[in-house]
Amino acid sequence: MVKKYKIIYNRTECIGAGACAAIAPDRWLMVAGGKADLIDGKEISAGMWEAIVEADEKQIKLLIESADACPVKVIHIIDLETDKQII
Ligand code: SF4
Repeated sequence: MVKKYKIIYNRTECIGAGACAAIAPDRWLMVAGGKADLIDGKEISAGMWEAIVEADEKQIKLLIESADACPVKVIHIIDLETDKQII
């Protein structure tokens, strides 16, 4: 089942470890300057990025894994159906 989620990403605090992009390369892209870009994301305030995504079980599992693998925990995901933060 496809559901909607919000990804919240504090790009300022990203240390460029690359774990997110290794796990979910369709959502995270390592760029020059040693940061990850949130693909299809929007900068909502200085350094803070958001993306609304539709994901099935397999895709959300990978997204959660990518957030969990981030050593500085700068990626968060909200289930837009329940408004609860998953990670
Ligand atoms: S895993 Fe975290 S620190 Fe590493 S590139 Fe991704 S967002 Fe940045």
